[in-house]
Amino acid sequence: MSQTAKTYPPSAEMAASAHVDAAKYDAMYAASIADPDAFWKEQGARVDWMTPFTQVKDVDYTLGSVKINWYADGTLNASANCIDRHLEKRGDQTAIIFEPDNPEEDAQHITYKELHAKTCKMANILKDLGVTRGDRVVIYLPMIPEAAYAMLACARIGAIHSIVFAGFSPDALAARVNGSEAKVVITADHAPRGGRSTPLKTNADQALLHCDDSVKCLVVKRTGGQTTWVDGRDFDYNALVEGASADCAPEAMGAEDPLFILYTSGSTGQPKGVVHTTGGYMVYASMTHEITFDYKDGDVFWCTADVGWVTGHSYIVYGPLANGATTIMFEGVPTFPDASRFWQVCEKHKVNQFYTAPTAIRALMGKGDDFVKKADLSSLRVLGTVGEPINPEAWNWYNDVVGGGRCPIVDTWWQTETGGHLMTPLPGAHAMKPGSAMKPFFGIQPVVLEPTSAEQLEGNPVEGVLCIADSWPGQMRTIWGDHERFEKTYFSDYPGYYFTGDGCKRDEDGDYWITGRVDDVINVSGHRMGTAEVESALVAHAKVAEAAVVGYPHEIKGQGIYCYVTLMGGEEPTDELRLELRNWVRTEIGPIASPDLIQWAPGLPKTRSGKIMRRILRKIAENDHSTLGDTSTLADPSVVDDLIENRMNR
Ligand code: ATP
Ligand code: MG
Repeated sequence: MSQTAKTYPPSAEMAASAHVDAAKYDAMYAASIADPDAFWKEQGARVDWMTPFTQVKDVDYTLGSVKINWYADGTLNASANCIDRHLEKRGDQTAIIFEPDNPEEDAQHITYKELHAKTCKMANILKDLGVTRGDRVVIYLPMIPEAAYAMLACARIGAIHSIVFAGFSPDALAARVNGSEAKVVITADHAPRGGRSTPLKTNADQALLHCDDSVKCLVVKRTGGQTTWVDGRDFDYNALVEGASADCAPEAMGAEDPLFILYTSGSTGQPKGVVHTTGGYMVYASMTHEITFDYKDGDVFWCTADVGWVTGHSYIVYGPLANGATTIMFEGVPTFPDASRFWQVCEKHKVNQFYTAPTAIRALMGKGDDFVKKADLSSLRVLGTVGEPINPEAWNWYNDVVGGGRCPIVDTWWQTETGGHLMTPLPGAHAMKPGSAMKPFFGIQPVVLEPTSAEQLEGNPVEGVLCIADSWPGQMRTIWGDHERFEKTYFSDYPGYYFTGDGCKRDEDGDYWITGRVDDVINVSGHRMGTAEVESALVAHAKVAEAAVVGYPHEIKGQGIYCYVTLMGGEEPTDELRLELRNWVRTEIGPIASPDLIQWAPGLPKTRSGKIMRRILRKIAENDHSTLGDTSTLADPSVVDDLIENRMNR
């Protein structure tokens, strides 16, 4: 990721109107570090408490006795914070806009009052199915309003939800139902997406064959398509909802009672069941949603993620609804019916903040500007990205073509584990640099460590392993059922710190650049470099659509640079082009980054959330493809066969 000289300061108007300008950021950040207890005590008032807390932070990062507690003696209910407390002031305001897969189908506007009734009904149905406080409920639903009702209904009665992305297979679903010993699985008949339909209930049927007989299945009607039915196990949501009461008192939950379990993407290994609790998570989701996106009362907020990812939890449901926002739930994909869909939806619902992933931006950029230009995007005020480092090429396109140069881009770096944003520029405060996550959020103390000595690198510029020195309220508390793995994964390599698994640079100005996962750093003839940098250079070439770079054992250099390259439609994969790309990277970065092997890849192995699974590519590059590890979260397993077949290193 080359650090471009050009920076993009906030407009005078943005700086003047935003919640946080540069001076306020500096003052608030300093205060949050100087006295975290006082800072987070004040922020704790963002949520309504049933019993006020008297304790704020109680954290120990010592290996063997890691504990993370925030607001521990307070009680609250997440669903009451997302719904009930808004009823008086904004009962008739739209809470959720549901935009269906098929644009011909009507959008739905669900008010806070309706959200209250639906959530209470769902909560009462779950109670009737025997779900009580502390029980686990697996949600395996399309992006329909019932997914939000289900989350909030669980929260209301103190059940712990675990959402499994609707694109996952029966095996992945069964593993997660069994892993959490769930009592109920909530699913739908079918899941429309991109003009096609997945038989969700059939998948659930297959999964449940591998689960305990006592697990019940609550089925929401989405398409009315055919399903099989197991009497005594399956329950019809649409029938039950008719008779269910629209009143359900929210349970008083301890701040440290689990709100949800969510598995990580599995980019680096076996997915981990991340546990988030109630109080700290709600405070952090609400605060980051408001400040990062400069959310204001009346704004329409759209995060295009699926609720199956943490981004959907924090920035479709909990953050926006805690803030009384209007949040969009989009069932479809960016390219259906065509590549204009995102922009059509922005125009239709007058979206103010738009939040998506670099993979979507790159895909849409490849389709050309016309799809964007035919929509009226004048309502947009802030743009955001999450999930991967964004290459400057894509950043510039997002900024110029989508944002018309008017909208700050918040490049939010965070993880399933962190509950909310840890680093991001703020729209009214920071002069953005394309590809940089810029600054820590309030209370976050990033440190850059030398990877082997674990020594803290002071001054600027520096590059190393990214750790966080202290806790924040949205931090995960444990791995479900495996606290030892939690400690080992995050607190053992660099004692005293939370280890993020990511590498980063801090530049001359003290701004942060995520260089990718530490596993993705390669050492070529003694030079350490992030593979993201080489990828970024490759993608900047006009003929390259996508690229993934990994290291492989090299006799002379120690590690060589192995590139998987997907060409733009219509481009011929020739040896001349290989040479051209090699020279291109040499001039873009330097001779040291010169690719050793370039394999043409018709597709790259990706997780369902669109992230490239480099650990699989690494195995193939190392010519060690017999054991690829956990591939259950791959979106399309068939691309792997082609890559193995045509591997360059034999
Ligand atoms: P697993 O932990 O199972 O391997 P994962 O890390 O992909 O999967 P997530 O929690 O969904 O699971 O992703 C978090 C990771 O995504 C971060 O650690 C980082 O590597 C990457 N990431 C997220 N946002 C950004 C960003 N704005 N810039 C750079 N990298 C990002
Ligand atoms: Mg991770």
